[in-house]
Amino acid sequence: MSNETSVTVIGLGLMGQALAGAFLKAGHPITVWNRTTAKADQLVAEGARLAPTVGDALAASPLTILCLTDYQAMHALLTGDTEPNGTTLINLTSGDSAQARAAARWAEQRGARYLDGAIMAIPQAIGTADAVILYSGPESDFETHKSTLDALGTATYLGADHGLASLYDVAGLAMMWSVLNAWLQGTALLRTAGVYAATYATFAKQIATGVAEWLPGYAEQIDSGSFPAEVSALETDARAMAHLIEASEAVGVNAELPKLIKAMADRSIAAGHGKEQYPVLIEEFSKPA
Ligand code: NAP
Repeated sequence: MSNETSVTVIGLGLMGQALAGAFLKAGHPITVWNRTTAKADQLVAEGARLAPTVGDALAASPLTILCLTDYQAMHALLTGDTEPNGTTLINLTSGDSAQARAAARWAEQRGARYLDGAIMAIPQAIGTADAVILYSGPESDFETHKSTLDALGTATYLGADHGLASLYDVAGLAMMWSVLNAWLQGTALLRTAGVYAATYATFAKQIATGVAEWLPGYAEQIDSGSFPAEVSALETDARAMAHLIEASEAVGVNAELPKLIKAMADRSIAAGHGKEQYPVLIEEFSKPA
């Protein structure tokens, strides 16, 4: 017998299996359900109980983790007599903030407690502190289950708005792809001069780390709405952007990305912000294209 909270995990794809496995490892009695039953075999061999129906799975535990392909799959599953009754739903399915808020309303209309979440980790990291999992929704529900959620990784609470976890998720993706794309642009340029990607990677890592150090100070400028050019003015950056475009085109490297960024800087300069600092571009980022 275990003193740990019982948990239900619905959705045993690559991520759901990792989540269920981490709860088992931490000593939680778990109930699982998956559309394709065979994916539960290993977990059942390790001590999980396989629920015969979704309704049975929901009724089995005070806490139910959902980890499905998308929100459509969740709504397809939890209909009619398989609606949540009594269990707190924590939806770790990826989606956007509107879907998360709509799912929260859907759950509230059924009297169910609901937290939304986003997993910032790969399945192999689940159960370690490296697995950062973001949660949003009522803080009291998060606090009630935090010690159980700690079995999955670093549980991070963001706020009462159910959409926050999804927003942080996509914001993190924007950061990740932007850093990678910038590195790929530079790598493509340097390869034309015979420089190996591995050689530039060491240099690029230093630049990325250095630029990351600027973020708190730049964030202060954005939050205060004041952008004095302490390091350089946007019009100086725009001239360097033109060099990047020219250098790329001269050696036959794709210049679409730097052109896009320069077009935004040019619009900001045309609006009178040329003598302000780079983060003033937040105004271009904050409106539709
Ligand atoms: P996956 O291996 O493709 O598993 C998808 C799961 O959803 C399976 O259990 C599948 O059931 C179930 N499913 C899909 N449509 C369904 C429906 N209509 N009815 C019932 N069940 C349905 O995906 P995953 O890698 O585990 O990812 C699951 C979620 O975690 C996604 O939202 C993903 O974005 C997120 N995530 C994954 C990772 C990662 O590295 N894998 C990282 C962060 C976040 P069947 O087994 O029967 O097909």
